[in-house]
Amino acid sequence: MATVGVMALGKDYATQECSIARALEVVGERWTLLVVRDALYGVRRYNDFLVHLGIPRAVLAARLQALTAEGILQKRRYQESPPRDEYVVTDRAIALWPTLRSLGRWGREHFGEAQLRIFRHADCGTELGPYGECPTCGTVVPVPDVLMVPGPGFDPDPADPVSRALLKPKRLLEPIEAGQV
Ligand SMILES: [Zn+2]
Repeated sequence: MATVGVMALGKDYATQECSIARALEVVGERWTLLVVRDALYGVRRYNDFLVHLGIPRAVLAARLQALTAEGILQKRRYQESPPRDEYVVTDRAIALWPTLRSLGRWGREHFGEAQLRIFRHADCGTELGPYGECPTCGTVVPVPDVLMVPGPGFDPDPADPVSRALLKPKRLLEPIEAGQV
């Protein structure tokens, strides 16, 4: 790994050869991982991201564009008049799930964040272990087979349709079309 003096630090990590630095160039900006998280929860539409994240519009537009350019989200037209696009996760986004799950666990263990969601194996209902494994079946559970249920810390916002939709158990990736209600 290159040694970098403080003066040489730029706004990206171009001088770092570390693969973590490379990954952070793609997903390290504020909000980016939260957009990916919501996309994995099944959020696909601009307004749903907007309301659920409480993110400034310009920032959301920039993050969606960057994630699309990096092949993490794919833009798909779902309505022609007026034209409307939705954002669908790619394999590259799905591959971020273990990182997000670990970050959530780390936040709870070290900073006492309340558990908003519990992840279970859809086939047998067992809560997943720390590595995303099902202790009952003894397998790592594929992302589409992860069932998300509200945890003890979940306090849904009645004004947020995504939050309301997450009151019901649902599998990861299963689309939420909250804005259509
Ligand atoms: Zn199981």
